[in-house]
Amino acid sequence: MSEPAPVALLRDRLLGWYDAHRRDLPWRRDPRPWPVWLSEVMCQQTRVDSAIPYWRRFMAAFPTPADLAAAPLDRILGLWAGLGYYARARNLHAAAQQVVARHGGAVPDDPQAFGALKGVGRYTRGAVMSIAFGHRLPAVDGNAVRVICRLDRLTDDPRPPRNKEVIWRRAAALVDGPRPGDLNQAIMELGATVCSPKSPACLLCPVADRCLARAAGVQQALPVKPKRKKRRTAHRVAALVRDGEGRIWLGRRPTDGLLGGLWGLPAVDAPGPDGPALRTLGLEPDLDAEPVTVEHGFTHLVWRVHTWPARGAPTGGEVEVWRAFAEGELPGLGLSGPSLKALRACGVNLPHRRGAGRR
Ligand code: SF4
Repeated sequence: MSEPAPVALLRDRLLGWYDAHRRDLPWRRDPRPWPVWLSEVMCQQTRVDSAIPYWRRFMAAFPTPADLAAAPLDRILGLWAGLGYYARARNLHAAAQQVVARHGGAVPDDPQAFGALKGVGRYTRGAVMSIAFGHRLPAVDGNAVRVICRLDRLTDDPRPPRNKEVIWRRAAALVDGPRPGDLNQAIMELGATVCSPKSPACLLCPVADRCLARAAGVQQALPVKPKRKKRRTAHRVAALVRDGEGRIWLGRRPTDGLLGGLWGLPAVDAPGPDGPALRTLGLEPDLDAEPVTVEHGFTHLVWRVHTWPARGAPTGGEVEVWRAFAEGELPGLGLSGPSLKALRACGVNLPHRRGAGRR
């Protein structure tokens, strides 16, 4: 066996398997455009199990795009807290406002109009348009990439645009038939539950006898992974500073950029755990104390955050607004990950959230 399996055969097998084995997820019981859209945004970069409680809370708080559009961003980020990748929440908020302004509050049944909304990329467009409206558009997430690379034994790095295109074209051919939304979900579901990265359960796979990687015994080596570049480390000096009533000073970062719209401790870049750097924010660090250090990783960067106790009220810096919060208010805030870790390490009691990860 060396030829990729024919589309019609794969389609039948995948749909049959999906009908028998698909997970019972709340948005699958309610495949209207808005619930589906919300689920697709939440499940990007996040495990389904982690996304479900967030999806339920959002659907209860914002049952329509108009409800989300009218809500303040702070409330949305507070409800999103713990899911990570906050740009998704900010974009969804902006997109919901566009849906109200351009489409009278209804998610448009038009791939072009939907794809023009803020934050709606090729994946989200394909997923929502196929699942909610039956458009024959592919939706390729990391799980689908893995399944297709293995099925067709694609041995090139799937990330460069040219190779990505090969995968999207294969997915497009597969969904160009009946039930495109179910077929997209079947491929992604197979990757999430059977064709797993490290130990694919090929004995349970509906297309095992047509899988070129399995036939060659190389399924665990695909898709090929390029070596990760080492992440750069940068130092941040932060301050735990309280006002006269014991409230903690936080600043909200501008909406655009890293950690946009989130609240965090007063902090500045520095070459090391350099407490006096906090004076640029109008704060006086207690240099007799030891700073508390935590690390937080981003995709290409690791922050080492050194937190000093300090006095004063912060001014200036890379924030939109400074405000002091009682400790009891913190769990409902959209707090940045580094500040959440730093506050916990300094002994502030904050409940743990379910972590983000892959779908
Ligand atoms: S046979 Fe194995 S490697 Fe191939 S698609 Fe199925 S689970 Fe994945």
